[in-house]
Amino acid sequence: MTVSVEDRWSILLGKDASFPAWIAFYLAHELGHIALSHVVAGRALVDLDFKDPGAPGDDEEEAADAFALELLTGQAQPTVLSANPGVRATASELARTAMGAADALQIEPGTLALCFGYSTQDWKTANGSLKVIYTKAPMWREVNRVAMAQLRLSEISGEAGEFLTTVLGEPTE
Ligand SMILES: [Zn+2]
Repeated sequence: MTVSVEDRWSILLGKDASFPAWIAFYLAHELGHIALSHVVAGRALVDLDFKDPGAPGDDEEEAADAFALELLTGQAQPTVLSANPGVRATASELARTAMGAADALQIEPGTLALCFGYSTQDWKTANGSLKVIYTKAPMWREVNRVAMAQLRLSEISGEAGEFLTTVLGEPTE
């Protein structure tokens, strides 16, 4: 969700993922809501049910998806298709191709794989390739590490501070 407080915004990621590309997309989507002025001052915009990018939703959700895709790839509707459309790509082939093309395209390989899912709706292969591209690790630790670095927990008193510390885990540094 994205929260507007005075003249600032906060993005709260409450959905875990196993791989960074999905977290990058969720974050970019929320940045889209901020950039496109979807967040009313003093209010929160809650994305409870993320659909796959490109799935039909309301106008603001589609606009935030397009913003996210453009932020991550340079194109609002990136198209990544198999060079051999008659043959179904395997997850490991997609991973190898995405990792090989990432530098030249300047697009992170996991994001490229998700663009394949977006273009073909073959999310099974796209998500399967992420297991090859990345070492599997729940992303919440890294997300919470960033949150801990951004929040001044010492200035949050009482139960709210205790709650946040408990939810985020103890600082490691
Ligand atoms: Zn949204």
